[in-house]
Amino acid sequence: IRRIGVLTSGGDAPGMNATIRAVQLTAAACNIEVIGFKHGYNGLLESEYKTLLGHHVQNIIQRGGTILKSARCPALQTPDGPAQAAATLHQLDIDALIVIGGDGSFRGALEIAKHYNGQIIGVPGTIDNDVDGTDNTIGYATAIDTALDAIDKIRDTADAFERIFLVELMGRHSGYIALSAGIAAGAEQIICPEFGRLQPGDLRSVITPIQHAQLLMGKSSYIIVVAENSYPGGTTALADELSKAIGIECRACILGHIQRGGSPVGADRILGTKLGAFAVEQLLQGAHLQMAGEVNGEAVLYPLSKTGDRRKAIDPFLVRWQQQVGSS
Ligand code: ADP
Repeated sequence: IRRIGVLTSGGDAPGMNATIRAVQLTAAACNIEVIGFKHGYNGLLESEYKTLLGHHVQNIIQRGGTILKSARCPALQTPDGPAQAAATLHQLDIDALIVIGGDGSFRGALEIAKHYNGQIIGVPGTIDNDVDGTDNTIGYATAIDTALDAIDKIRDTADAFERIFLVELMGRHSGYIALSAGIAAGAEQIICPEFGRLQPGDLRSVITPIQHAQLLMGKSSYIIVVAENSYPGGTTALADELSKAIGIECRACILGHIQRGGSPVGADRILGTKLGAFAVEQLLQGAHLQMAGEVNGEAVLYPLSKTGDRRKAIDPFLVRWQQQVGSS
C-alpha cells in the first residue's frame, strides 16, 4: 500500500478529527501517503481532495466537526454513483479507502467495493452509537455529556417554574443517547423506541408515572427525556397532548444539532485515535470490507456488511432499572 484515501461521511461527530489525525500519523510513519476527500462521498464523485500532511492534522484533536467536512451524498445512490466513485480511486492510484461514518456510509462503501480493486475499511463515527460490532462509536461519549449539560440547565428552570419538560435527544432510531443521558441526568422518565412506540391517544404509560410522582413525592420538576422518532407526531405534539390530558404545562425542548458539536471528550479522542490507527495497521495486514471497532477494550475487526444488520441493543440492566425504579 502506497496511498490511502480517507473521508468522513453522514452525520458529523466529535472525534472525527482525532481519527483523521491518527490515520495520517500512522500512515506517514509507514511511508504511506494520505489523500483526504472533502464532503463525504461528494469528494470522490467530484474529485475534491487534498494530500493530508502532518501540519494539516496538527492542533485538530481537540476540535469538533471534521476538517474534511461531512455530507450526505444522494448521487452515490444513483445507478452510476458507485462506479464513478471507484473510478476516481483508480485514477488517483489509491490502494485503500478508509470511510469514517455510520452504517449508512458503510452501505455506500459496500456499493463502491463492487467496482473497486483496492481495500476498504470503515471506522464507526456517529453520535448515535447505533453501529453493531463496536461497543461505542466515536462521538457518542461527547454527545451524552453535551445532552447532559443541557438537561441539567433545563432542570433548573423546570424546578423554578414547576412545569414538566420533555427534552428530545438525537439517536435516529436508537435510544442510546436518550437512555445514557437520561440516566445520568436523573430524568423522571425516558421514552425511546426500544421501550415500544407510543400511540397517539394512548398516553397512559406516560401519564400514570407523572400522577404517581406528584401524589407521592410532591415533585416540583419533572423531566422526560424523549429519543427522536419516539412519537408519531413529534415531541412538541406529545407535549401538547400531555398538557391537555393532565392539566399541567408541558414544554418540549428539542436539543437538535447542538449534540453533534463541541470539543470531543477524552474518551472520543482516545477511541478515534485507536480506531484510526488500527484501521491503517489492519489495511497493511490485508483487511478488506471490515470495520475497525472496539469490544471490551480491544480493537477488533467486524464485517462491514453486518454493521447495520440488527438494532444494537441498549443496556438491558439500565433499561430494567429505569423502568422499575428510575421512573418516578
Ligand atoms: P450515516 O453514515 O451517518 O448512517 P447516512 O445514512 O446519511 O449517514 O449515509 C451517508 C451516505 O452514505 C449517504 O448520503 C449516501 O451517500 C451513502 N449511502 C447510504 N446508503 C447507501 C446505499 N444503499 N447505496 C449507496 N450509498 C449509500
